[in-house]
Amino acid sequence: MHEPRPHPTGWIEVVVGPMYSGKTEELIRRLRRAQIARQRVEIFKPAIDVRYGADHLVSHSESRIPSQLVATANDILPLAGEAQVIGIDEGQFLGPDLPKVADRLAEDGKRVIVAGLDQDYRGQPFEPMPQLLAIAEYITKTLAICVVCGAPASRTQRTRPEHGRVVVGGAGLYEARCRRCHTIPDETPAGSGAGGSTPGQNATETA
Ligand code: ADP
Ligand code: ZN
Repeated sequence: MHEPRPHPTGWIEVVVGPMYSGKTEELIRRLRRAQIARQRVEIFKPAIDVRYGADHLVSHSESRIPSQLVATANDILPLAGEAQVIGIDEGQFLGPDLPKVADRLAEDGKRVIVAGLDQDYRGQPFEPMPQLLAIAEYITKTLAICVVCGAPASRTQRTRPEHGRVVVGGAGLYEARCRRCHTIPDETPAGSGAGGSTPGQNATETA
């Protein structure tokens, strides 16, 4: 026999896709509805991403909701308090403990909603989102519009040769592209000769 549970069952929802696909819009929509239902909501985003202000999630379409900054996923646990719903944006920047933290919050009976990039600018899985997808109860994949051909876009194109997987983009550094129009930028260091960089060389670098 199982012991009766002291609190309701929690779960994990993940929203993934490329940049401009509406992940933040969708996260804000779900969090707003929870607030309308008078649920206690806490919202977090990584301190690395303060492009549009430190104290709000802001979507590319300018919808916004107040949020707190955290350095890594572990910082969320002491701040979660009595929240019934936890919203987390840009999960790919919160470090390898994000799945464990989300799992712990769900075990505590909370609804955990995480948005983030599922692929990096090379089209490679962007940890720890794949691990989070594996343990989530609900998964939503959002697509953008390919800026080249208008097809549904699942990839994020880096439009200038920058080094490192994490380069937080100002305007114009990234755009949404479909599989066919997406290209991996040439990152061969200038003057390095034929050897150049091998694929994945910068895969875990931060810039
Ligand atoms: P994400 O969090 O996935 O980066 P946002 O929720 O911040 O996306 O922004 C989505 C909004 O971006 C769309 O509603 C639209 O207004 C705008 N947008 C800009 N470029 C594109 C594009 N290529 N495809 C789709 N939406 C785009
Ligand atoms: Zn295309």
